[in-house]
Amino acid sequence: GTPKYSGMVEDCCCDYETVDNLNKEVLYPSLQELVKTPFFRYFKVKLWCDCPFWPDDGMCRLRDCSVCECSENEFPESFKNPDRLPLNDPVCQEGKPEAAVDRTLDNKAFRGWTEIDNPWTNDDETDNDEMTYVNLLLNPERYTGYTGPSARRIWDAVYSENCPKYLSQESCQEEKILYKLISGLHSSISVHIASDYLLDEATNMWGQNLTLMYDRVLQYPDRVRNLYFTFLFVLRAVTKAADYLEQAEYNTGSHNEDLKTQSFIKQLLYNSKLQAACPVPFDEAKLWRGQSGPELKQKIQHQFRNISALMDCVGCEKCRLWGKLQVLGLGTALKILFSENGQENLVQTLQLQRNEVIALMNLLNRLSESVKFVHEMGPTAERITEGH
Ligand code: FAD
Repeated sequence: GTPKYSGMVEDCCCDYETVDNLNKEVLYPSLQELVKTPFFRYFKVKLWCDCPFWPDDGMCRLRDCSVCECSENEFPESFKNPDRLPLNDPVCQEGKPEAAVDRTLDNKAFRGWTEIDNPWTNDDETDNDEMTYVNLLLNPERYTGYTGPSARRIWDAVYSENCPKYLSQESCQEEKILYKLISGLHSSISVHIASDYLLDEATNMWGQNLTLMYDRVLQYPDRVRNLYFTFLFVLRAVTKAADYLEQAEYNTGSHNEDLKTQSFIKQLLYNSKLQAACPVPFDEAKLWRGQSGPELKQKIQHQFRNISALMDCVGCEKCRLWGKLQVLGLGTALKILFSENGQENLVQTLQLQRNEVIALMNLLNRLSESVKFVHEMGPTAERITEGH
């Protein structure tokens, strides 16, 4: 393990070792299965580069940035509209043969799910016109070659304008949390770049880049801590919404697959090991308590919405896809933990969209992968890098 990280995860009630063990034994294996199911592998997203801040930013032209949208035949039956017109221009991005664009939406696919806007995000989630489905399995989050000023200014804007790193004890708890969530997500993105890196362009050889992981994440212990914090925060949201998620419909038209999805969900939510070792991974009840609670919540919601809007400026499609998914996932976690109607009766008061649930679980899976990679490869990365 990483002995550097011992004791309790900040603001949490379980220690690093417990989190690593739980992740390895319970969370990681079931999440890996869950995200492969037809329900969880298609994400609805507006991929236009619609940047409100820097209108000059073009789309990324690098091959590895392109997103393969769903081809028709791999789209779950129930997502399709039987009366749909044939696609007149199924453009395959950057020559990937199975990548025809399917922009049709079918209400049946959203049976039992409400279409409501998430107050934490910038996109109007009820506006289906500009949305497209993407098969996440075809588009793993990994190195894309997106760097330089375009990437840099997004992160700069995220941190400087919307969640400044707290320098003193003055910042309130809630603002610290926003910073930690974003920093944890940033660590996770860097870990994915490091775990799946284009090592040799000429031979198209992909593999791990442990030096990169050290340089960007491991040498800053607070970035590792923030990754664990974000993981537990999202995990808490998922377990808090357990009853809601258990009762939700995972209907994709394929009965066997849907039963599997349901059973993976149960495995994850009602796991006795998880309940014994870390029943409340984050305690949200102590937040927004002060006098300025409601104002503060509005302010932080506004900041988070700005961060979400910044995702439209990410100049690389695949990065934009995962940026949007993960920010929506965080927004969904925030919505679950801080929804107006508080603690009780969440099953009755909470309303989640299908897409929010997909984003939430895929985000949790990404964070789980990052925690696992840091835990397993961290010591090696430190050894080879510090040895130089
Ligand atoms: P960056 O990662 O760009 O970091 C910029 C600055 O932020 C750092 O110098 C540091 O001061 C600070 N910082 C870095 N990490 C943290 C942290 N964890 N907590 C707090 N502060 C931090 N590239 C890909 O190859 N694949 C992707 O899928 C991908 N997705 C992206 C998604 C989004 C939303 C964005 C904005 C960028 C994405 N990128 C992706 C680009 C990638 O994140 C980096 O910006 C790029 O690789 C350049 O890295 P860098 O070393 O300059 O540092």
